[in-house]
Amino acid sequence: MLRRTKIVATLGPATNTPEALTNIIMAGVDVTRLNFSHGSASEHIERARRVREAARATGRFVALLADLQGPKLRIARFKDHKVSLQAGQTFVLDATMDKNAGTSERVGIDYEQLISDVARGDILVLDDGRIEMEVISVDAHSITSRVLIGGPLSNNKGLNKRGGGLSADALTEKDKQDIVTAAKLGADYVAVSFVRTAEDMHVARQLLRKAGSDAGLVAKIERAELAHDDEALDAVIKASDAVMVARGDLAVEIGDAELVAVQKHIISRARVLNRAVITATQMMESMITNPMPTRAEVSDVANAVMDYTDAVMLSAETAVGDYPKEAVEAMVRICLGAERHPSMHQSKHRIHESMERIDEAIALSAMYAANHLKGVSAIICMTETGSTPRLMSRIKSSLPIFAFSGHHSTQHRVVLFRGVQTIPFDSSTIANEHTNAAAVEQLLQQGVVQNGDLVLITKGDYANAQGGTNSMKIVRVGSDIR
Ligand code: PGA
Ligand code: MN
Repeated sequence: MLRRTKIVATLGPATNTPEALTNIIMAGVDVTRLNFSHGSASEHIERARRVREAARATGRFVALLADLQGPKLRIARFKDHKVSLQAGQTFVLDATMDKNAGTSERVGIDYEQLISDVARGDILVLDDGRIEMEVISVDAHSITSRVLIGGPLSNNKGLNKRGGGLSADALTEKDKQDIVTAAKLGADYVAVSFVRTAEDMHVARQLLRKAGSDAGLVAKIERAELAHDDEALDAVIKASDAVMVARGDLAVEIGDAELVAVQKHIISRARVLNRAVITATQMMESMITNPMPTRAEVSDVANAVMDYTDAVMLSAETAVGDYPKEAVEAMVRICLGAERHPSMHQSKHRIHESMERIDEAIALSAMYAANHLKGVSAIICMTETGSTPRLMSRIKSSLPIFAFSGHHSTQHRVVLFRGVQTIPFDSSTIANEHTNAAAVEQLLQQGVVQNGDLVLITKGDYANAQGGTNSMKIVRVGSDIR
């Protein structure tokens, strides 16, 4: 069976050699993530080139996701690189001190505005939740806190406020430059970190278009404000092509008790609003140092699959871990296992709602026909921009959706969508009345359909027209197909 859930893998030192990169691609990676929190523009450009090369060599379609750093707040550095904080002690964040002179009593911060964003009683969380402190006083240039949960703390660790409410803009000056780099390296998707409003996504899209890129935009949902405001969340989802449940920062901001329910809610809203969704962070965390996942990690990945996420993501596991290939293999195995559950194959998606768009009506009715008619073994979707397969893949199904497209950007855009496979296909060189037969012939040659199977085909009357899908046809493989 073809795996439907897609795998995003973050690249880093552990996957720098051509061999390591080829290994994770062969193991099943669909999307590679370039993390702009680390590395220079030239390093990202070189990495992207190597991904394209490895994908070509292995005959697979692998998309590039450029993930912008965003306004991640960080402490500065310590004189000895690392200190140990004790519960009960006081600790000062000091915007005026030497950035390299931190001690176990005080450390610098890069973002002075933090001081006006926090008040006595706020909880600050450092290093992805490992350290917590309560603010006891704030003056013009520093914040004094009492440590609630202590432990080791080293240079440049991240800092969040429980409950959210930090005013930093989603796009920093660095992000704006990185958008230009993302365009230059031909990113298929660009992710915006710490998104607050739909407007953040509009600004990012304008900058991306200005830089000459038509990449899809991913909103990372990691601020408490969005998790707690359905209207704002829906607006951000609608302004995006896909969203990421960015559990690393999200869990720190909202607390771990709420995280699972919020994950399910974000996935469900993304699907209802016809957008793709990636579930991310600490999915296989123990595989950074172990060749096997824990049962809890197996359960986490399987549950995200059963929530009907489009993709699951690996972070440090493939960027700096000891077992990048094994982590991908484990994810493949768990996705396939979870996808076999019968509840994954039938859909009630939007069954009681009306629609406004013709392409949407065709996409959804095609999926219902395919799911309910006996003998259908594949769906062929002739697509210019990838919009119809995205609509189709919002519907649960066990049938593969083959996106036939002649455009390089569409061929890579669709790999993120659950259940969608890319087939390169240039319909402009084939007479109209022969395209259906040629498309079915291609699936026959690839061995994914057999004589006698039914195949469902959707397409538009005009090539190169976005949102133009207006017809659906069901044909039998081996018959005279028009
Ligand atoms: P990050 O985003 O790894 O860039 O912080 C993902 C997350 O916060 O979960
Ligand atoms: Mn994050």
